[in-house]
Formats: sequence, structure tokens, C-alpha cells
Amino acid sequence: MDLTANPALEPFRAEVRSFFERDFPKDIIEKTARGQSLTTAEVRKSEMALGAKGWLASAWPSEYGGPGWSLEEQYVFDEELERAGVPTVTPMGVIYVGPIIYTFGSDTQKEKWLEGISSGRDGWGQGYSEPESGSDLASLQFSAVREGDEYVLNGTKIWTSAAQHADWIFLLARTSREAKKQEGISFICCEMDRPGVSLHPIITIDGKHVLNSVTFENVRVPVDYRIGEEGKGWTYSQFLLGFERTSYARIGGKRKQLSHIRRLASAEPTGGNTRLIDDEAFAQKLTAADMAVDGLEMTVLRVLSAVKDGGSPGKEASIIKILATETAQQITTLYLDLAAAHGQRKFADSVSPDWTGHTAYAAPGVATYLGTRAQTIYGGTNEIQKNIIAKRVLGL
Ligand SMILES: Cc1cc2nc3c(=O)[nH]c(=O)nc-3n(C[C@H](O)[C@H](O)[C@H](O)COP(=O)(O)OP(=O)(O)OC[C@H]3O[C@@H](n4cnc5c(N)ncnc54)[C@H](O)[C@@H]3O)c2cc1C
Repeated sequence: MDLTANPALEPFRAEVRSFFERDFPKDIIEKTARGQSLTTAEVRKSEMALGAKGWLASAWPSEYGGPGWSLEEQYVFDEELERAGVPTVTPMGVIYVGPIIYTFGSDTQKEKWLEGISSGRDGWGQGYSEPESGSDLASLQFSAVREGDEYVLNGTKIWTSAAQHADWIFLLARTSREAKKQEGISFICCEMDRPGVSLHPIITIDGKHVLNSVTFENVRVPVDYRIGEEGKGWTYSQFLLGFERTSYARIGGKRKQLSHIRRLASAEPTGGNTRLIDDEAFAQKLTAADMAVDGLEMTVLRVLSAVKDGGSPGKEASIIKILATETAQQITTLYLDLAAAHGQRKFADSVSPDWTGHTAYAAPGVATYLGTRAQTIYGGTNEIQKNIIAKRVLGL
């Protein structure tokens, strides 16, 4: 898949770019650029702007409400979205659960859920991890006990991203304690406002509210909220993880961050009155990060080419997850160099450091650095990805 050699994509790129420049809500882009978190209403506004255009579920087939784009078009779209500084689409609906619903769900379930996801009207959360089950997810204890036409849900899910913006949550729940641990798990959906569901915010080191724990106390949901067969939830969740791990690439966003860093480093004098960009050690780090993004892009294109016929990205998605998250950390570490260079100059000038004035980038830059540390943990830690590569890709 070579995008540079395909001029046929240019009119499409121009159309997408013009939509983001002219028609996408500017207040959302500006707030995101300031490093501020969006409210639930703003998340909906952002995603519904894409949904109204039919572009939110950008990878879905047209029969389910997607634009039916080729892989090349999806790739260009993602690049332009990130280039424009549009907030990353919340992945739980369109990237994670949507493909599970249209692949394994009944017609009634497709009718019930897909339109809300592809239009951006409904937010979703992902309820997999538990306080005692993370990497060893199959050990999960969250229970769904069948009573007539209902399941009664009990237990706690944790690290549930964006659940404060969600209308629905999809859960891995134990429906049998007798079968092998992977086989006793079912995939069940639930409204976030059902009686017995409560949300508890978790504030992270970057000062943001992204994470939550969600507790379920005797929450009753119809059996029809289970996707696919009882006891087969583990299989569906593995299908989903391929999409989750591939979605980390965000090449356009990385390139945008690098050019932002390059611009700041070209302007900011250090204590010795030289620009940071002229510092050899910094320039080397910046170049290495640039090359890492090129390497990542080639790998993504290679994996995507292999799944061109619409299959799941497969085990190779673990390679992308590692490369993408480590590259993200490599890039955001440069924000610390920038902040340090500025601090050095302030010290030299005997001016007390002021982190909010003309160095407004420093605080969000450092928050981005801190937030990016979590990338090698979520979606399955990078150590676990290495285990997967060793066993299932290399066959060791
Ligand atoms: C910012 C953020 C967002 C998240 N969002 C969600 C979400 O929306 N929904 C959700 O369900 N979960 C979410 N998670 C949870 C995430 O998936 C788990 O944190 C992750 O799977 C690791 O589980 P754990 O935290 O229990 O760590 P543990 O599994 O306890 O691991 C601790 C350490 O031991 C290592 N380790 C464990 N087992 C092995 C092994 N077999 N071989 C080698 N090393 C091993 C791990 O790599 C890690 O370094 C999120 C986490 C974060 C940080």
C-alpha cells in the first residue's frame, strides 16, 4: 500500500481537509489544542459532527452506516483528522464494539445499537479489566447470573476510560464457573443509567479525569443484551483486540506533535542564547523520533495491506501496539526537553518561572508526556504483547 504513489486519492484528501477546515466545530479544535478535556456535551458535538457527515464509523462497511471507504481512504481520512487537530474519536463504540455487533450480533441488536454508534449519538465504555484481573483477564470474576429472561450483574470494572461520557458499556462477565476459565465468559451490554450501576472517577497523574471504576449491584439486563452465544465472549473479545491495538498508530497525530515540537525548539532560546534545535543531542533525539514514525507508518501499511479483504488485523497488531506506544513516549519526552530549556533561560534571566504565560505549551506538554506513559499499559501491556509475538507470530 503506497499512498504517495496514488494521485487518485488527492481529490478525496482535499474534500476531507476542506470539511475539517470549514465545517468542523472550531471551538472543539481550539479547546483540544489547549490540552483541555471536553465535556460530555462537547464529545457528543464533536462525534456527531463526523456522524452527520457519515464519517464517524470510518472503517465500517456501508451496509452498517459506514462510508464504505477503501483502506487507503481510511488512512488518508485519519491523517487529515489528526492533522486538523480534531479530537481522537472515542474508540469504544466505533472501533471496538461496533464491529463485534455487526459481525456477531443478531439483526435486532444491529438495529438497536449500530445507528447510535455511527451517528455519534451514543457513547460507549469498555468493561473488561477488574481490580484483580488485568493482564490475566480470563481470571475475571464479574458475574452474570441468569434468572429467566434476564441476567443479574454483580461486580466491579476498573480503569474504564471515558465511562463518564458513556450511555452504554460492554462487559465481559462470567456466566459459568464450571467450564475452562475462557469458556465461562459472555459478552453483555448494559445501559450506564440502569439501577444499580454506579460510576467512581479516578484522576490520573496528568490531572485528568479519563478513568473510572464502575460498580454493578444486582443490575438486571435482558438476556437479549448478550452478544453471540453464552460462554463465547472470550472469542469475541479477542476479535476486538486486534482492532483496538491497530488503532494506536495515529501517524498523523504523531507527525503533528513532531512539527509542533520542531517549531517550538526553533524559537526558544536556551540559557546560552542558542536555540534548542541547534543542540546536537536534542536534534538527534528529534531525528530518531521522526525516523521511528516513518518505521511505524511502514509497519502499519504492511499490516493493513495484509487485511485488505476486511478480516481482523490478527496477531501482528501486537507489533503495531508496541511500536506506536513506544514511539508516542519517545516523542512526548521531547516536551520535557523544551520545558527544561525554557526553565534554564528563566533561571539565567533571574526571572521566576511562570508556567502559564508565553510558555503555555509547557504545562500541557508535560501533561501529555505523563498521560502517554499509560499507553504501554492499556490495551494489554507491552510485556504481554511481546509474549503474544513470541508465541503466536514467531511460534517460539
Ligand atoms: C489509561 C488507561 C486506560 C484504560 N482503559 C481501560 C478501559 O477502558 N477498559 C478496560 O477494561 N481496561 C482499561 N485499562 C486497563 C488495562 O487494560 C490494564 O491496566 C492492563 O491490561 C494491565 O492490567 P493491570 O493494570 O491489572 O496490570 P497487571 O496485569 O497486574 O500487570 C502488572 C505488571 O506485570 C506485567 N505482567 C503481568 N503478567 C505478565 C506476564 N504474563 N508476562 C510478563 N509480564 C507480565 C505487566 O506487563 C505489568 O507491567 C486501562 C488502563 C489504563 C492505564
